[in-house]
Amino acid sequence: MGVDYRVWVLPRQRSFRPSAEQFARLANALRDGNWAPMPDTPGQGSQIIELLPGNSVAGKKPARVQGFDNIPFTSSWVEFHSQHELVMDWHVRNLREAGVQYPFVFDPYPDSGPPYFYVRLILGRDYFYWTGENVMPFDDATTECVCGEQLSFWTDWAHGTPSQRIQMVCPQCGQRFDPSGKACDILDGWSGAPTPLIGGLTFRFALVVDCHKYWPHDEDAARRFHLRSGFLDLWRKTIEVPFETVVTFD
Ligand SMILES: [Zn+2]
Repeated sequence: MGVDYRVWVLPRQRSFRPSAEQFARLANALRDGNWAPMPDTPGQGSQIIELLPGNSVAGKKPARVQGFDNIPFTSSWVEFHSQHELVMDWHVRNLREAGVQYPFVFDPYPDSGPPYFYVRLILGRDYFYWTGENVMPFDDATTECVCGEQLSFWTDWAHGTPSQRIQMVCPQCGQRFDPSGKACDILDGWSGAPTPLIGGLTFRFALVVDCHKYWPHDEDAARRFHLRSGFLDLWRKTIEVPFETVVTFD
């Protein structure tokens, strides 16, 4: 089992993509509720990463990177910056200095903290497609269009996002693809037992908390290490559609 721990909050309906208005409301709610730091706060470093088309599979994905402003996000701002893919990345390096709320129900290392983590929003047009140590890939046939075209592909690397995509619309025949009913295996982090993950770890929109190495490494504690309901309520209030959480270890 790997050491980087991430919790992905995903729409159950994998084809769901929020409106620019909903996305802006969630980003504002994260800051207003003090779950994500403002740009002038100490103990954090945050950036907005606008990923650009480009698929050389040779290195880093082309991107425009900028800092956050103090002003609230608007739907027109989101629309303008999400023409390809948009990542908002709040990196809390030191919870105490940043003075934000901890998104988990307990601090796994209260004697050696303070906690560090990333809160991340990811928005795209094609499906982001994550596989890793505990999330197995779909069978090749699963990501084929009805016309036989393979819709999954690799793209360049970008911080905090999967490097694989699945095309939303088949370039050969124009059919839309939706992985929501398709299953891959997800392995339990301790026993290794597989269970089906319906929809796979695919999304066009996700809220992610990336703990890096700061998470409880003993099984009993890790099984109790959940996101706080107040944090997930932000999704319920702004995005509204049903979600599920998936944990990865890489
Ligand atoms: Zn097709």
